[in-house]
Amino acid sequence: MNSKLTSRLFRAALPLLLLASFTAGATALPKESRVPGGIALVPVPGSSDLAPTVQFNAYRVAVVRRDDQWVAVVGIPLAEKPGELKLKVSTPSGTTEVPFRISDKIYRTQHLTIKDQRKVEPDPDDLKRISAETKRSDAALSKFTATEAPALQLISPVEGVRSDSYGSRRVFNGQPRNPHSGMDIAAAKGTPIRSPAAGTVVEAGDFFFNGNTLYIDHGDGLVTMYCHLDTIKVKLGDRVAQGDLLGTVGATGRVTGPHLHWGVALNRAMVDPALFIGAK
Ligand code: ZN
Repeated sequence: MNSKLTSRLFRAALPLLLLASFTAGATALPKESRVPGGIALVPVPGSSDLAPTVQFNAYRVAVVRRDDQWVAVVGIPLAEKPGELKLKVSTPSGTTEVPFRISDKIYRTQHLTIKDQRKVEPDPDDLKRISAETKRSDAALSKFTATEAPALQLISPVEGVRSDSYGSRRVFNGQPRNPHSGMDIAAAKGTPIRSPAAGTVVEAGDFFFNGNTLYIDHGDGLVTMYCHLDTIKVKLGDRVAQGDLLGTVGATGRVTGPHLHWGVALNRAMVDPALFIGAK
């Protein structure tokens, strides 16, 4: 075999070699970023054959086995202040606190103009509806369905232009509102939205701010949400596989144009979805 052919074969095989070395590792984990809205990978005690139970802010946290060590995969709420935080770790021999530190992150401010002023200043009936919907949303996002092996990696749910506006402070028609807790992906109305991982549809409906919305429970405290859909193609209780059609991109609810708002909750904290899908 001549050297030119050898090098060509090597180049052809290289992606396969890289893929093999990537998948041969332990559980694929999201990227660590110890800031508000980020994720901390914190080593925790426990015997080799039994995972400890870990809690953060009273929510249960996913735990994976990596390099002969238990690691808590902790979602950090956007509202958390920089400094020391504590995990509660329970094993058969007792409960201990494991501290970890986060640093600050400055998110920018975004000014947006919404044509429908009621979507910025809801009337009393709207407020009743919003309060009921917030309870449903919170119940879906708080789910912790324990699995044998946590699957904490996602693929992007839609082809489109990703904004990096996660975390930005938002001002709608001059009025400050909650910070942006997800990723916006701009795409034409009707673009298919696919499940980023296997899971179960745990909530679906037409919500005041979020329009047609879906929630998927992937297990171990990882729950994803999809807002402003034009159509929903699954129903409550459906099991979906990675890549299955969930619905289509739309412009329902409080929007400035068609896009998918994609939220990712980890132990109830809405974290930056970009940490799960790698660089742009
Ligand atoms: Zn959004």
